[in-house]
Amino acid sequence: MTDSHCPYCSLQCGMTLTARRAALEVAPRTQRNAESNPSGQEGALCRKGWTAAGLRGSRERITSPLVRDRASGELTAVDWDTALDIVAERLTAIREEHGADANAVFGGGGLTNEKAYLLGKLARVALGTAMIDYNGRWCMSSAATAGNQAFGIDRGLPFPLADIEEADVLVLVGSNLAETMPPAARHLDRLRSRGGRVVVVDPRVTSTAARADHVLQPVPGTDLAVALGLLHLIDAAGAVDEAYVRERTTGFEDVRRSVAAWWPERVERVTGVGADDLREVADLLTTGERVMVLTARGAEQHASGTDTVLAWINLTLALGMPGKRGAGYGCLTGQGNGQGGREHGQKADQLPGYRSITSPEDRAHVAAVWGIDPAMLPGKGRSAYELLSALGTPDGPRSLLVLGSNIVVSAPNASEITERLQALDLLVVADIVMSETAALADVVLPVTQWAEESGTMTNLEGRVILRERALTPPAGVRSDLDLIAGLAERLGAPGAWPTEPEEVFAELRAASSGGKADYAGISYDRIRAEGGVFWPCRETVDGEDHPGTPRLFADAFGHPDGRARCLAVDHRGPAEPVTADYPVHLTTGRVLAQYQSGAQTRRIRELPDDGAFVELHPLLAGRIGARDGEPVLIRTPRGEMKAPARVLDTIRPDTVFVPFHWVGVNKLTNDALDPASRMPEFKVCAASVESWNSQPRVGDFAAAAPAGSTTGTGEIHESVSR
Ligand code: SF4
Repeated sequence: MTDSHCPYCSLQCGMTLTARRAALEVAPRTQRNAESNPSGQEGALCRKGWTAAGLRGSRERITSPLVRDRASGELTAVDWDTALDIVAERLTAIREEHGADANAVFGGGGLTNEKAYLLGKLARVALGTAMIDYNGRWCMSSAATAGNQAFGIDRGLPFPLADIEEADVLVLVGSNLAETMPPAARHLDRLRSRGGRVVVVDPRVTSTAARADHVLQPVPGTDLAVALGLLHLIDAAGAVDEAYVRERTTGFEDVRRSVAAWWPERVERVTGVGADDLREVADLLTTGERVMVLTARGAEQHASGTDTVLAWINLTLALGMPGKRGAGYGCLTGQGNGQGGREHGQKADQLPGYRSITSPEDRAHVAAVWGIDPAMLPGKGRSAYELLSALGTPDGPRSLLVLGSNIVVSAPNASEITERLQALDLLVVADIVMSETAALADVVLPVTQWAEESGTMTNLEGRVILRERALTPPAGVRSDLDLIAGLAERLGAPGAWPTEPEEVFAELRAASSGGKADYAGISYDRIRAEGGVFWPCRETVDGEDHPGTPRLFADAFGHPDGRARCLAVDHRGPAEPVTADYPVHLTTGRVLAQYQSGAQTRRIRELPDDGAFVELHPLLAGRIGARDGEPVLIRTPRGEMKAPARVLDTIRPDTVFVPFHWVGVNKLTNDALDPASRMPEFKVCAASVESWNSQPRVGDFAAAAPAGSTTGTGEIHESVSR
């Protein structure tokens, strides 16, 4: 029996894995204490966790490197040495012809810390390119940017998740936690059973909202105005914690002035949230001794996502909450290692340990660990969407190496990005199955998956946990660490390129030592013994282990003066307002049985896969003549798709919702970027929706899915040619 954690979301529920001949059994793991298990002391898994072994032995598993024959266009099996030689030769040729930044690297928020670290090192040291970013940019970069600006540090939750239970009032903004990470919902139930209250802010009455005492249903893209209105009421009630604001923050008077104009009736006009509902929630916030606000993608994936998070942080600072136990602000990260992934160097502007690639001191520290001259390190590269949208353009990269990301499904404005991938001279994709992105590649490299390899992850709480290897990988696959090291050697990179995860972690610890995300005192043995260690965890000195840091901000924030920054922000609404042609708001999200681009979960037989659907209100359905289960056509300025209607009165009548796990959905979404975080506006764009049955069909369904794309057990509703 092997201790591990789930391969999916940022909760990283503990599980035990037992190999029995061909089968792998999964069971929830009860850890040593509640603090060491985010899903609760008794252990729990959601449906995705229970069925996580389902991908093992899948017929769709790739077990040999594949290289596309230029004449026939077919992918042909080759051995690993041949594949790596081809990739290294072509990367070298592209660099010689077009310069170092012509080679780009794209990582993922599901990669272990060790892989994210070594991938960043490969880009900077072996390829010498600044062009590296990862799909975590699309996950929580707005919350990360706001956290850095306000608190001087970015850790999703600055406290253990179980602290939720100690809050008197919990406000969830744009989070459907009960569906995206069901075991965490028990914390809400316990909070309420001891008299606490839950407020949910979401355009849809989700299964999380069904557990709430108050539900505010704003127009998508107006969460920021809701926060401004609540702070207006808190200030008007004289409930600002003046002593806290004076002693622990700067800039509050600017914020106070900025919310003065956001009286409840104005908020109602902008957001659709009733002024009386707003007053009720403000009353709750002013009377709660411990108020906690948690945001997630619904609030963050906007062109104003950073400002939206700052507005909610301002509210918690005004109430004097951050640093108080059972209170404060936090972000519920999405991907399994969205947090660790950006701490250790696969983000365009960061070096390991959350060091800055533009800081001379940080560059010198990391260069010393890597045994190179700091001048060899490239500078800051392009953010994820900016990188992908430049591929194959005259001043953009000519090659892309992708690890742990299914870009064709997950990128906003996905048709445009798919065209960019097809314009490359070289696309290399490492994956476990033939994802929609791998199907476009010139070289596909088959890699080990969860349970076949060890490595650390950093969950939504900043807790570093260890997934242990439980199985022998199939013949023909190699770990991402082997792949990276193999390429680095062929590219003539200086320094050591270890392939054992624990050795890589030892190097990561040294590179992070003294940084904001300091892992120097964390070891595999400590994680095994303690069930997880929270960063920052400084170096062991004179045999004394640093205990790790479950809770931040009790005495000081991360800025040099120890104070938090209150930063005045204002509402500006969606980047793409509704028009006569596109009269409804489209918002996207997840469903319980699927995970992110669905590359894994769509292939697991036990998980239901009914394809995408369009959720709409009965009033809207009636207006367009759509009936539940019948197809509707949804269009945005970027594309269109057909999917069955799901008619529910739990969504606003001016809004439609589509889950994004299938090809085609992100062809609709907007690529407007947040100016600070560079987060695309996945969560709102203007759309039209029509009943398919009432439309003349001018064309048929285009087989627009990339070659090799799969439907899993369900149907993919593809873009429609009309
Ligand atoms: S909640 Fe997340 S980590 Fe837990 S079992 Fe489900 S997918 Fe896995």
